[in-house]
Amino acid sequence: MHDIVIGVDLGGTNIKAGAVSYDGRVLFRCRTTTEGHMGPAAVVDRIAQAIRDCLAGVEGGRERTAGVCVGSPGPLDLKNGVVLTAPNLPGWVNVPLRAMVEERVGLPCVVENDANAAALGEQWVGAGSGADSLVLLTLGTGIGGGIVLNGKIWHGFTGVAAEIGHMSINPDGPACNCGGRGCIEAYASATAMVRRMREAIAAGRHSSLASKGEKLTARDIYEACVAGDQAALENMHTTGFYLGVAIANILNVLNPEVVVLSGGVTAAGDLLLRPIQQTVREHALEAAREGVRICFSALGDDAGVIGAARSFMTWDIGR
Ligand SMILES: [Zn+2]
Repeated sequence: MHDIVIGVDLGGTNIKAGAVSYDGRVLFRCRTTTEGHMGPAAVVDRIAQAIRDCLAGVEGGRERTAGVCVGSPGPLDLKNGVVLTAPNLPGWVNVPLRAMVEERVGLPCVVENDANAAALGEQWVGAGSGADSLVLLTLGTGIGGGIVLNGKIWHGFTGVAAEIGHMSINPDGPACNCGGRGCIEAYASATAMVRRMREAIAAGRHSSLASKGEKLTARDIYEACVAGDQAALENMHTTGFYLGVAIANILNVLNPEVVVLSGGVTAAGDLLLRPIQQTVREHALEAAREGVRICFSALGDDAGVIGAARSFMTWDIGR
């Protein structure tokens, strides 16, 4: 009887894997480093080893496991399980990840976008449990997203839906890595927060963070906020404002029941959530925001693994 799926969360730094039951419990989890510099084949070897560790970690693991899903950075060819490119993984161009994993572990595999998988995990047993529709924003070096509508991931026409980080809120705004301007990622990612903080300090703004120089991180900004640093508090408030503008747009277009924020920056808690909520009140249509919950991830580090497993359980693309 199959009652387990192995979910894998492939990141630029770490590979996380877990044996997940059909009711959303992680029965066994493991984590290893990605070692992306070693190239695709070596990384897939490490994924396969993590899967084998999960199979060995639960009693009767292999017999009980229906299959595997790897949540991968993208863009992807979902139908064929191919990673087209992965900006944080050197050499990853047209990598047939599904076939490579199947060959190594002898189990059926599917490949889903990592942020989509995390969104599905949160909708299944996380912050959006019980809700039919949910939008996830992952706040990190960049900003990723996932959209779940009627309990299913919304992939869009060519499979690249939910690139929320590249929603432009100002066509004359700062340049973004995607080639566009004024993308929310260029305003509210950890990278953008650090850039804005450096600019403020360079412009003569007094801050305890001036001594950090090139080593400044978004985490430092959060910690300075807690210590009462005014320039850092303003930076966090501005970040929340821009996220609020993006979320107001999302509510007006999709009217989801829940919006979930995840990633390191969410450690800032209410310092980030308050300006978001205030901006949403000012910028979203009342009917589009009424009763909508805006909250932080409930699954944290497990979201990608649980969501990948759920992706396999509900998979309906080409196999
Ligand atoms: Zn962009």
